[in-house]
Amino acid sequence: MPWVRSGYCCQCGECCENSGNPFIHGEEDPRRSVLMRERTTKLERPNACPLLTFNTTDGSRTACLGHIGMVPEGEEDPYYMSGCIEWPTVPGHIENFPSCTYSFVWEDE
Ligand code: SF4
Ligand code: SF4
Repeated sequence: MPWVRSGYCCQCGECCENSGNPFIHGEEDPRRSVLMRERTTKLERPNACPLLTFNTTDGSRTACLGHIGMVPEGEEDPYYMSGCIEWPTVPGHIENFPSCTYSFVWEDE
């Protein structure tokens, strides 16, 4: 993998808030988990992912409701597990998210 990521997720939420609801035009999309479907009616911010919540304990961070550790083991959201669990993987993923605390360096193979 030429791009090597370092850092951590500070839970700023910029990516999940500004990448949009992945299923906004497909409410019957079978890939929408029960958690996502139930969440849709309670979106805290328009166009944000349905699993993003701003109701963290100190109010300054966000949380993904389908994330490992947020639900019992094995019940993580499939949308999260199919992509977000590894994202971001290249610098372009975060170029529009200035608060992101990940960084990348290119390493020749
Ligand atoms: S599933 Fe979680 S990590 Fe992925 S976009 Fe939604 S809130 Fe963010
Ligand atoms: S923009 Fe970066 S630091 Fe912020 S929530 Fe997304 S991955 Fe985490």
